[in-house]
Amino acid sequence: MPCLVCLNVVTDDELVAEDDFFVSVSEHDHRKFLPATSADVFRKADRLAEAVRDWEQGRGRKNVWERLSKASGLSYHPDGLLYDAELRVFLDPCEQIMFDGMHVLFSNGVCQLETGLALQRLVNTPDWDFNDFREFVKADFRCPIGQGHWGTRAKAVASQREDALRCKGAFPCTASEMMLILPVFLHYLQVVVSKKWEVGDILASYEALSDVCRLFKDCKQGRRGGSQALRQASAKHLRLFNTAYGKDNAIPKHHYEQHLGDGRFQRALDCFAGERKNHELKSCAEFHKSGIAFDRQVLLRAITSQLGDLNNDLLYGDQLYSGKTDPLNSALQFSKHGRLLGARVSVEDALRVDNQILVVKCLVEAAGTAVWGFTVFSSLVICMFIGPTSRDIRSCLHVLSAE
Ligand SMILES: [Zn+2]
Repeated sequence: MPCLVCLNVVTDDELVAEDDFFVSVSEHDHRKFLPATSADVFRKADRLAEAVRDWEQGRGRKNVWERLSKASGLSYHPDGLLYDAELRVFLDPCEQIMFDGMHVLFSNGVCQLETGLALQRLVNTPDWDFNDFREFVKADFRCPIGQGHWGTRAKAVASQREDALRCKGAFPCTASEMMLILPVFLHYLQVVVSKKWEVGDILASYEALSDVCRLFKDCKQGRRGGSQALRQASAKHLRLFNTAYGKDNAIPKHHYEQHLGDGRFQRALDCFAGERKNHELKSCAEFHKSGIAFDRQVLLRAITSQLGDLNNDLLYGDQLYSGKTDPLNSALQFSKHGRLLGARVSVEDALRVDNQILVVKCLVEAAGTAVWGFTVFSSLVICMFIGPTSRDIRSCLHVLSAE
């Protein structure tokens, strides 16, 4: 049972065929999932703990608790939260668990699996050449600098990746590469492949996957009604995936995808920010010797350092990178690059603001005063594209070209 919050979802298709209580991870109909309670989870944990104790005291075999651990999807840690009787009054795992969109979708997730399956289908298509796809990916597609670099996208289709596809039938790439490749591959399927080959099922499933990724991002930002739309989109995606590639290719992460729109805590969360802190944790660990209080000491040091950083405007606040003073108005500083609301922004990035797309023409710091014709965000000002006749835009571009 791969899912903590469902009672009846299993990976064993024979079990599904024998007993209609069970449903497979390839099931897209949410009405068939029976919700588990936290009492069910504690019961499973207690059975596992008992089997381990039996084995430790010579009364049972190791493979009994190993099979139980695999079947219940739990591992046994005597100091873990699930096994601490006193903490159970504060613990409600079925309500408190969140499904992590980063690992479900982008980090060895359903996006890699489906991109690999689609490319595998293309590799076996007469007259299709991986080099065509590689050249397409390397074309001059632009994306906000905060989302990644051109080089990262090109690396995702390097020759080693083609070899992995041909030998193992997989498309292994990092989460950052996947986020850059997904819209380009979708565009490639839409404007190139579907014009020449019969790939309607592949395209429909990939479009649905792309919708899931977009709606998940909306849910991260707390958009109203986003959860319901995401639930519907993930069900539609799994149905179309099954049609294109067969139910046998569905994995537990397809089921977790169905939970991304559960709407717990009113928004979706993922591990991207946490994963970026791995280096921070490693550097904190260097100060402590391993021992009984190791975890607590490292965590305390990391939290103290993080709280200190959050107070430091130079690390997280809005700012220009390499700003230059406007020769016509010394109160204005201009730059092509800066940090805005925590993200790196550069000239030519497109930003969606209140359903409008704004193209960044330069970044201006105006010493606290708004500049006519520009949109103000926090302490920085984005010069948006408001037409070639704008005197101010021309003035900004003049300054930038002089840099
Ligand atoms: Zn579930």
